Amino acid sequence: MAKCPKCGGNVASPRKQWKMAGRPDRNGKRTELTIGLFDHCGKSFRAVLAKRKI
Ligand SMILES: [Zn+2]
Repeated sequence: MAKCPKCGGNVASPRKQWKMAGRPDRNGKRTELTIGLFDHCGKSFRAVLAKRKI
């Protein structure tokens, strides 16, 4: 679930979602981000759904 940046309403489910590995931190660990693409108010926006250390 994500919040629409325009109206502040909750959008239940993403139209599309994928995983992305972030940069390694100081300890060399990467964070895997789950990104969702949501549609609301006739626009689409991305939001981070989950973060995980990998
Ligand atoms: Zn909206």
